[in-house]
Amino acid sequence: MVHGRISRLSVRDVRFPTSLGGHGSDAMHTDPDYSAAYVVIETDSEDGLQGCGITFTLGKGTEVVVCAVNALTHHVLHKDLRDIVGDFRSFYRQLTSDGQLRWIGPEKGVVHLATAAILNAVWDLWAKQEGKPLWKLLVDMDPRMLLSCIDFRYITDVLTEEEAYEILQKGQVGKKEREKQMLTHGYPAYTTSCAWLGYSDTTLKQLCAAALKDGWTRFKVKVGADLQDDIRRCRLIRDMIGPEKILMMDANQRWDVPEAVEWMSKLAEFKPLWIEEPTSPDDILGHATISKALAPLGIGVATGEQCHNRVIFKQLLQADALQFLQIDSCRLGSVNENLSVLLMAKKFGIPVCPHAGGVGLCELVQHLIIFDFISISGSLKNRMCEYVDHLHEHFKYPVIIKQASYMPPKAAGYSTEMKEESVQKHQYPHGEVWKKLLPAQED
Ligand SMILES: [Mg+2]
Repeated sequence: MVHGRISRLSVRDVRFPTSLGGHGSDAMHTDPDYSAAYVVIETDSEDGLQGCGITFTLGKGTEVVVCAVNALTHHVLHKDLRDIVGDFRSFYRQLTSDGQLRWIGPEKGVVHLATAAILNAVWDLWAKQEGKPLWKLLVDMDPRMLLSCIDFRYITDVLTEEEAYEILQKGQVGKKEREKQMLTHGYPAYTTSCAWLGYSDTTLKQLCAAALKDGWTRFKVKVGADLQDDIRRCRLIRDMIGPEKILMMDANQRWDVPEAVEWMSKLAEFKPLWIEEPTSPDDILGHATISKALAPLGIGVATGEQCHNRVIFKQLLQADALQFLQIDSCRLGSVNENLSVLLMAKKFGIPVCPHAGGVGLCELVQHLIIFDFISISGSLKNRMCEYVDHLHEHFKYPVIIKQASYMPPKAAGYSTEMKEESVQKHQYPHGEVWKKLLPAQED
């Protein structure tokens, strides 16, 4: 049973100097330092359990997120955890509808990232107290209780609470078998780690060969900076993986709408399953135009990692603007808001293929997609979860990949807890790693 009054909330700026090796680089983000605003909540309970939550940024942005977390802290301190999870919808709304802070949102941008970090910590603590990994907490939860965590405001024109209840009720059928299937085979993954834009062809070849050897069958390549480079890199990777394996492309918002269509027509010969983020993440109708234009070429559109909230996802679905929906565990308002998006995707029959390119994102989102398969989608058709192979060593319960699949986590919680020594070492700007790097950067 959940218990305890929240007595402390701390937030730290933790950064990893990934830009030094070009890891994570793409057409728009050429020098990312994968980072997290790392929230820890403690209660007055004697069990000593802590709730850990993160949100992800590319470096400097974490400073701003940390400020926003501090601005929201008063909503959390001295609250009884039972009251929070007993009426989670109200608590979610309290954070997202703060009368003064919502002006810098609402439910978008920095203040929403901060909300995600805090709520991720609450979910971690809840799951830890129940002694279950988060996916299992969700799978075992009564459907009415699950729905009481979701804010349906602004989405009832496409999904009412009753419709959501019916989806969850239908999902009960065959649930046990699907859970067993997950525990035995895991959830299929694809790798983005071979083909960051900043990698040389030699590196790309080496990493691709190693991934093939490890059993990977689905690959994503970054595109969008230079067409001739893209053609060369896509040919190289397609030649290496052969015609049968799956290839995706990711432009990270680089193009205008007509440019996206034209550029992708030139890359169509490499048979990509999807083009991800072809244009501005806010351009719903632009995504619809691109989807329509690329459909005859057999190329779908994928987006979501910078989709602000459930309202934008709703419209992307309504406008037939995406064929693959990419939730992100740290962009939306935590599990609460992601649940509403998973349910809407089910209603529209659109496969969810989570975004996980960042620090900790694989650790978190695996819980959501495993739950989605067991309790909502019931299908693996056209579905897979992103995987990147770095920074897992900083987490207490790192992901386990077997045969290119995510194996369901067994430890209680949301897999959000970082190793304290890693946090201290990478804390910005006074951690050991940054003390060494910062003077060099000033030269
Ligand atoms: Mg992407």
